[in-house]
Amino acid sequence: MKGFAMLGIGRTGWIEKENPVCGPLDAICRPIALAPCTSDVHTVWAGAIGDRHDMILGHEAVGEVVEVGSLVRAFKAGDKVIVPAITPDWNSLEAQGGYQMHSGGLLAGWKFSNFKDGVFGELFHVNDADGNLALLPKGMDPAAACMLSDMVPTGLHGVELADVQYGDSVVVVGIGPVGLMAVAGTAIRGASHIYAVGSRPNCIQLAKEYGATDVINYREGDIVEQILAKTEGKGVDRVIIAGGDVDTFDQAIRMLKPGGRIGNVNYLGEGDYIKIPRTEWGCGMSHKAIAGGLMPGGRLRMEKLASLMETGRIDPGKLVTHHFVGFEKIEQALMLMKDKPRDLIKPVITI
Ligand code: NDP
Ligand code: ZN
Repeated sequence: MKGFAMLGIGRTGWIEKENPVCGPLDAICRPIALAPCTSDVHTVWAGAIGDRHDMILGHEAVGEVVEVGSLVRAFKAGDKVIVPAITPDWNSLEAQGGYQMHSGGLLAGWKFSNFKDGVFGELFHVNDADGNLALLPKGMDPAAACMLSDMVPTGLHGVELADVQYGDSVVVVGIGPVGLMAVAGTAIRGASHIYAVGSRPNCIQLAKEYGATDVINYREGDIVEQILAKTEGKGVDRVIIAGGDVDTFDQAIRMLKPGGRIGNVNYLGEGDYIKIPRTEWGCGMSHKAIAGGLMPGGRLRMEKLASLMETGRIDPGKLVTHHFVGFEKIEQALMLMKDKPRDLIKPVITI
């Protein structure tokens, strides 16, 4: 079969591979809708998780089940399914301990395009199908549903990590597709002021539609100064980081009230250390907490997030700005993600 792969750091291309083999608990799927991710860009061009050779990329997909293993109960060939980016081993000790995304080791619940071939293949393998797949609800647009693989769960996980409460003032740093879903989730959680940090006009427009009350442009001045000016020097209750770099943590600590909380879902592709400003961190006694996490996957999570879409509570279809048709368009869509033209939020390929 054919797949679009990372050949090595900074190198991609089409390759031929053997068809994946279905174990008793697994499923083999073919893609119906696919999306490249900023994480694919970090992985290939920043070499953020180390070198990978001839590894098929991609971890965001809606697919059709082609084959299931003998022990799979909930799915059969022909089912249309949402495939989460994170597919844990549900019997691992880490999953039993509540951290399914690290099943088998740090970040090891993230298998597609990390430890095994991803979804940019004519066929792809899903471990623990009953635990990880979810049926695509009838009538749901596969291109929009593809946002359930990663953008929705990651953005909403930022909200969970920051533990947003009713009436909280919240800064969302970064309003690409992940940050935009964090804005939408923050609004659902009952935040009061939602300060969205970004610069692209279409992202700013969508941030307002999803519930941002204020927009901060990081290209027009220091974001800490801008936030402190808007909050009479007090800062905010929560900061969700969905963009920026290692220096963003320094800014987040400075704009946070004592007892505040940072939820990070940004994939830090570069830099060795994160600096925490000593004085603004209360010389170590500020009760300003930092939580960072990989999105949770799994069937229950996918079903719940799909129901948020079905009831109209979130509308991630609006993230899709570029729609390609045909498997071979994967390459073009990924390059678009790498180059990030100003009008891009998220590209999707349907097959
Ligand atoms: P985008 O590149 O589309 O968006 C990044 C956002 O950050 C943009 O709004 C950009 O602004 C803003 N930004 C860039 N630099 C700065 C800066 N210095 N200060 C403040 N804001 C800045 O990324 P995505 O939304 O696709 O993804 C966000 C991150 O989430 C990525 O690192 C991705 O790898 C990661 N991720 C993490 C996952 C997880 O499980 N934890 C899963 C999926 C993705 P502008 O408007 O100028 O572009
Ligand atoms: Zn992703």
